[in-house]
This record gives sequence, structure tokens and C-alpha cells, in this order.
Amino acid sequence: MTRDSRGPDDGAGEHAPDLHDMPVEELRRHGHTVADWIADYVGRVGDLPVFPDIEPGSLRDRLADLPEEGEPFDVILRDLDQLVIPATTHWNHPRFHAWFSVTGSAPGILAEAVAAALNVNGMVWRSGPAVTELEEHVLELLAVELGLPSGLTGAINDTASTSSLYALAAARHAALPDATAQGLHGAPPCRVYASEQAHSSIDKAVLTLGLGREGVAHIPTDESLRMDPDALRSRIEEDRRQGYVPVAVVATLGTTSTTAVDPVAEIAKVAREAGVWLHVDAAYGGPLGLLPEWRTRFEGWERADSVVVNPHKWLFTPIDCSVLWVRGRERLRGAFGITPEYLRTSETEAATNLMDYGVALGRRFRALKLWFVLRYFGIEGLRRRLRPHIELATDLAARIGKTPGWGVHTPGTMALVVFRATTSEGDSESDDLNREIVELVARSGEALLSHTVLRGRVWIRLAVGNLRTTRADVDRSWKAVLAARAQAEAGPGD
Ligand code: PLP
Repeated sequence: MTRDSRGPDDGAGEHAPDLHDMPVEELRRHGHTVADWIADYVGRVGDLPVFPDIEPGSLRDRLADLPEEGEPFDVILRDLDQLVIPATTHWNHPRFHAWFSVTGSAPGILAEAVAAALNVNGMVWRSGPAVTELEEHVLELLAVELGLPSGLTGAINDTASTSSLYALAAARHAALPDATAQGLHGAPPCRVYASEQAHSSIDKAVLTLGLGREGVAHIPTDESLRMDPDALRSRIEEDRRQGYVPVAVVATLGTTSTTAVDPVAEIAKVAREAGVWLHVDAAYGGPLGLLPEWRTRFEGWERADSVVVNPHKWLFTPIDCSVLWVRGRERLRGAFGITPEYLRTSETEAATNLMDYGVALGRRFRALKLWFVLRYFGIEGLRRRLRPHIELATDLAARIGKTPGWGVHTPGTMALVVFRATTSEGDSESDDLNREIVELVARSGEALLSHTVLRGRVWIRLAVGNLRTTRADVDRSWKAVLAARAQAEAGPGD
């Protein structure tokens, strides 16, 4: 690259060319190539194997040492295609049904590129007025659309694990304010209450907060795997008698294994009577608050002290984006607010400083992608896109339910089908068979499923949640399941 080949606006200034970033005209050219790459990828991802048929370590074996001198951008892109893509599990694939199916939608992808260009860090208001105020604006309006009270204030984190950790830190601060100042040494033992189906992130948060693995009481569930509020009440009373301090109750709206919805109105009543913080984990199910027909099932969540919803799960926003709403964000500040002198500005007292609401000082401009997504699809547009996912899952559940040799767990849940192959040979043989089906489907590249264990039995999970998933995709995934079963039952060598 000679100096003459640079454009006048390339920012080269007085420095030698190799001390600079890519010249602007080159950025434009490669930017067009990358935009084409993205459009081609999104257009063809359904033709790729969902999960690559590779073994752990196979990519590492193919990666070269880092170069001393820079390499042409085209060479890097070539390696993206030849090395990275063949080792990628395609979460944006229409037959990705594992864990929870998600969409990194086009407006979200484009917003991520813009956010990287801005490279703004929303530590405090001055470091990112737009980061701060767009985040406040989007979260305030989204809360109302979901049926949450307008007084909730939110902050965006990377994951629900982080959001729940922060919520429970605020709950601990509320229950044991002295612990924030003095630590837990000499403090009474604490308990957080969550159903036996709650996500492991709750246990991790409790562990991280120094309350110990035994700091979580796992409350039994009914036959639909929903928390039993009477068992919750008795357990809190019993713990109080034993000297425990109840810190928080966690209700889940859309559990990970089966999308069960805890009876949050009754749980909220128990929490209120006990004077305990209520945290609602709606990481997956939360977007259904947009649907009037679902909102009644969430009744009571508006009484929560904190709520987590992950737009990166079922609101078409690229990973990562997890919203935490808290009734009175100053309660988060009570747990986390520390302002070092170098971050103090003339607006410190008057403005929102996002660093006060969690552990991380630095924050990406995550609100930008959420704002793009919400505006591009619109609230009614989101409703129109969520409903078919539930319908596809419901129809598949009905179909599986009518197929001899298969059983469906609790139909009528969210956009998830939980099912298993049944055999006459006994439960543990069928557990092995179901595990093998999940494995063989993955290895086929046709679809990707996951599994769970419920009351000791292995079940297969098939989630629908990608905007490009069609009925034909779901049919194809089901055929892959049938083929995998046939292969498993035929035994090795066939
Ligand atoms: N809560 C629920 C109900 C989940 O299903 C999950 C993950 O699937 C989580 C929390 C954790 O999500 P994250 O990966 O954002 O931490």
C-alpha cells in the first residue's frame, strides 16, 4: 500500500501507513463484500448441516500461528469460509431446534455492525449519552408492551445468568443491608426459593453471592412441572423457624426443560406475605407478554420486584441481549453503586450512569439492536411472528401424540415439543434410545435437538423459534427423528 493509493479521508495523517487502521475506501470495499457475505449466509444457512460432523479439537488442529505482519482481508475471509464455517453450529438455521431456537434477525445483524463502528462504551452518561438514553427509552416502552408496570426501570446485560445474579444481589442487599457493607461473615444463613425446574443460573447466582449451594431451596412442582405455592409457603415458614433469612423467591415463566409457567400470581402472594423479593425469570417466555391470549397466564408477574427477559432468545435480537427490570433501579445501585473519582462528571448526580446497575463498568451499545428490531418488525409484527412458532410446535406435538411408539410430555406449552420414543423393553432401554436419537439427528446435519431428564426419564426437546423455520422444515426435522430411530433400532453395522 503506497501513500498515493489512499483517499484523502482515510485518516492517515502524518503517520506511516502501517500504523493506521484499514483505509476508509478499503473499508467500504470490504464492507460491501461482508454485507454480501452476510446476505448469502442468511440465504443459504438452511442448506448447511446444522451441526458440523466434527470432533472436539478438529478446528484447533487446522488453525495457523498468528502472523507477524498483517494479512490481506480476502485471505481472512477465505479462512472464515474454509475453517470457521465448517466448524460452526448454525443457530440461525431454520432446523436448529436445540435448547431454545433463536433468530439473529437482519435488522439486529445490521445494528450490530453499526454498534461496532460506533464502538461506544456506556459506562456513565457522559461516555455514552445515546447508549444510556436509548436503553432507558426502549426498556420503558417494551415493559409497557409486555404488560409490566410502567414504573419498572431496566438495564441490558449480556445474559439472563448475569441479570438474575444482579437481581438476587439487589434482593440480598434488601434483606441484609449490612452484608453490603461488612460482607457475609457473621450473617445468618440465607435462602433463595426456586422450583426444582428453575434454571441453573439461579443456583450459580446464589453461589456467586456467597450464599452457598445450600442457599437455594428447590421447591417441588406439580404434574405440569409448575412450582407448588403451598410447598413454597411451608418451606419459607420452616426456614424462618430454623433461623434462615429468606432473600428471594424466583418464579419461572417458561422453564428450560418444558416451558412450564409457574403460578406467579399465587407465588407473588406468598412472597408478599413473607416480605420477600420476587424475581421472575421470563428469559425465554417473556416475549409472550406481547400476546393478549398469553398475558393472562402471566398474571402476577407485574407484582415482581425484578423480571428478566432475553430478547436474544425469542425476540429476534442477536446474541447477546438480556433485559433486567427492577422496581426502583436504585435498589440495584444500593448493591453495586461505587463511583471512582475518575468517572465522576458534572452530570454524575443528575444523569443515569449504567455502571451503577451491575458489576461491569463497560457496556456495549446493546439497546441499538433491540431498538432496530422492535422498530423494524413493530409490536403487531412481532405478535404475528411469535404465534406461528407456537402453532408449529403445537401441531407437531399433536402429530407425535398420534404416532404409535411415541409419547408427548405436557402439550400446549410454548414453542417447544417435549417427546420421547417409547418401547416395550423398559424405561432405561428407551432412555438410551432417546439419547441415541438426539445424537444421530445431530450427526445427520439435518436438524439439531436437545434432551432433558424429567422425573428420571430422558425426553427429547424440539424448539421452534427461528423466523425462517417453515412447516416444511418442521416436517423435515420430524422425518430426521424417525430416520434416526430406525437407524438406532437397526443397530450398529447398518
Ligand atoms: N433462564 C431460563 C428459563 C433459561 O432457559 C435460560 C437458558 O436457556 C437461562 C435462564 C440462562 O440464559 P442465559 O444463557 O442468557 O444466561
